[in-house]
Amino acid sequence: MIPLCEFFAATQGAMARGADREISVPIGFLDDLYRATTLDEVLGVYSVWGRQITRADRCSVALRDGPGQLMIHALNGAFGIAKGTVHRTENTVVGQVYARREMLFLPDVARVDQIDARRVQALGYAAAVFAPIITSDRCFGALCVTYKNPLDNPGKPLALLQAMARCLATQLLVIEQMKSLRLMARTDALTGAKNRHFLSEQSDHVWQAWRQDDVAFSFLSLDIDHFKAINDSHGHDVGDAVLRMLVDRLQGNVRGQDTLIRTGGEEFGLLMARVGLDDAIPMASRLRETVVSQPFAICDLRLPITVSFGIAAASQADQTFEDVVKRSDVALYRAKETGRDRIIVARDDQLLPA
Ligand code: GH3
Ligand code: MG
Ligand code: MG
Repeated sequence: MIPLCEFFAATQGAMARGADREISVPIGFLDDLYRATTLDEVLGVYSVWGRQITRADRCSVALRDGPGQLMIHALNGAFGIAKGTVHRTENTVVGQVYARREMLFLPDVARVDQIDARRVQALGYAAAVFAPIITSDRCFGALCVTYKNPLDNPGKPLALLQAMARCLATQLLVIEQMKSLRLMARTDALTGAKNRHFLSEQSDHVWQAWRQDDVAFSFLSLDIDHFKAINDSHGHDVGDAVLRMLVDRLQGNVRGQDTLIRTGGEEFGLLMARVGLDDAIPMASRLRETVVSQPFAICDLRLPITVSFGIAAASQADQTFEDVVKRSDVALYRAKETGRDRIIVARDDQLLPA
């Protein structure tokens, strides 16, 4: 038995000397893949090792970039079409590989009259091999290797490139699913507003900016008035439609850097980054006006909806982000107590009508 550490020491030694390509190439590829964390890094690893493994002069990764086009996201090797180059699918070889989802070997690029083939030929390449980046039901793009010298025996590069492209496709699928899970975990499913999980991430940023650099922020607490009566009179579905419609109206009136959060059933928060109390008040007035300006039209109903608001801005007395939210909630309760459909501002130790 060889102790594992000795085995790795020997392997790495061989890799450093470049002595055993059969071991060093797959280990180098898998090791780099293991370390890659971002999409760019993963694509970079495939372009570097795609070239090495197929013994090509250049390797590129083209991914779907909107309808009818692919973009080169990573590339490695001598003279090439630059990263960021966009190819239309209908007039390029790479687009054809993507659309047909088939491997392609071009023994002589000079004989192909497509834009990308003409370009690589002008750069001095002779042959090319393409593999679609596919899973069983998705195609993400194409992996491409090009050779300066004629490729007499393309069998090995074709098989290797196909295997790599399939692995890459699986990784891209996982990355995409992680991204949509991350988004789902931060989004309220009913209304599309952000949720408390997202708020806790955002709050760290605004709180740090406030503490370290005095960057102001304000928080608005909102609660629909007599919402239970809507459910009771018209049913839960109508209540749900009101919630969705309210979020649409509010979202249409906030700035890009403001975050609308559904904090509870019919309760929302608006985190306004870089906004002090004096600018938050007109914003709240605008939102209130958006809600009351016209009744909510749901099926044949016209429901007049009102909302109560509380506002607070970060102040020196606040010890945590939650202190600001608490003060804005207290202002909201005061708005409820004093008649609803109004805005109350927490300013210093006082609660004042806007
Ligand atoms: P107030 O003006 O004091 O805020 O009165 P309210 O009726 O709005 O408040 P209350 O807390 O009494 O009732 C809130 C209701 O919101 C009760 C709950 O069933 C309803 N609710 C919570 N989440 C949802 C939801 O996702 N969809 C629907 N349709 N109703 C919900
Ligand atoms: Mg309510
Ligand atoms: Mg409530």
